[in-house]
Amino acid sequence: MDPFMQAAIEEAQKGLAEGGIPIGSVIVHDGKIIGRGHNRRVQEGSAIKHGEMDAFENAGRQPAKVYREATLYTTLSPCAMCSGAILLYGIRKIIVGENETFMGEEELLRSRGVQVDVVHNATCVALMKQFIADKPELWNEDIGE
Ligand SMILES: [Zn+2]
Repeated sequence: MDPFMQAAIEEAQKGLAEGGIPIGSVIVHDGKIIGRGHNRRVQEGSAIKHGEMDAFENAGRQPAKVYREATLYTTLSPCAMCSGAILLYGIRKIIVGENETFMGEEELLRSRGVQVDVVHNATCVALMKQFIADKPELWNEDIGE
């Protein structure tokens, strides 16, 4: 498997072990992970710490050039908030673990020129399916439903 998707899955698993929502993300530039994170809404009582947002936060301030050259990996199709951050910072390519359990703003991203590759990873699907079955109320809260 792509080692960067593997790293994003490890972040998701870390989040699950903490009692959180199992979604992870890494940002890769020049063959190296410059930011990694996982959904921390439950852990930190946060309204904004989705996996992708946590990876952006962990990467810290970066020059525009770095974002433009970076690839963001996420275990789940990115929601409107995270897609907004991807557009804001000009990320041009994202790799999505799965979009079966949640379809994010992939069309919006593509319409704005972002390359969106969905890899249909079975581990990503299994993590979310199990979580949604176990804690449907937490999941609905995460996607604003
Ligand atoms: Zn999100």
